[in-house]
Amino acid sequence: MSFTLPDLPYAKDALAPHMSAQTFDFHHGKHHQTYVTNLNNLIEGTDYAGKDLVEISKEAFAKKDMGVFNNAAQVWNHTFFWNSMTPNYAAPSGDLAAAIDKSFGSLDELKTKFTGAGATRFGSGWAWLVQKADGGLDVVSTANAELPQLEGLKPLLTCDVWEHAYYLDYQNARPKFLEVFFDNLANWDFAAQNLAG
Ligand code: MN
Repeated sequence: MSFTLPDLPYAKDALAPHMSAQTFDFHHGKHHQTYVTNLNNLIEGTDYAGKDLVEISKEAFAKKDMGVFNNAAQVWNHTFFWNSMTPNYAAPSGDLAAAIDKSFGSLDELKTKFTGAGATRFGSGWAWLVQKADGGLDVVSTANAELPQLEGLKPLLTCDVWEHAYYLDYQNARPKFLEVFFDNLANWDFAAQNLAG
C-alpha cells in the first residue's frame, strides 16, 4: 500500500494573512506531494513497504539510507506541521498549561526558547516542543528532515523553518515568521492531545 498526500485540516486560505493560500499551494501541493511521490517510488517492493512513516524513518536513519529517510520523515513532519497550526488560536490550558509552567516557567519563556531554536537553526530544519522520557517538556531544533523520535523524544508541536515555509509570506524574516506562528497559529489543542496520548 502506498502513501497519499493528506488533505489539509483547514481550507488553504484559512490561515491568511499569517500564512497565505499561495504558500499552501507550494508547500502542501508541491513540496509535501513530492516527498510522498518520492517515498512511494523508493520503497515499492522493498522491506519498508507496509511499515508506518516513523518506523520507516527510524529504520532508514539507522541504516543511513538517506533517500528513504529524508522522504519518509518529511512526509510525517509536514502532516504534523499542518496539524500544529489552527485558524482558531486559543492559548494553552489545563494539563498542557501546567506542564509548560513547570518546565519553562511561563508561556513567554517557552516562546523565547521555541522562536530562538527555530531562528538559530542554521540552514533547513524544524523547531519542536517535545516531551522527554522523564515527563518534562523541552524545546529542540532538528536539522533537515530529522524528527525528535530519533532521540526518543515525543513531539507535541512543530514549526517548519525551511525557507520554503516562509519565503513567500515573510521573505528572509524567519524570526518574524516564528513569532507569528507562536502567537497566532500554534494549535495548543493538538499539543495537548499529543501530551495526553
Ligand atoms: Mn516544509
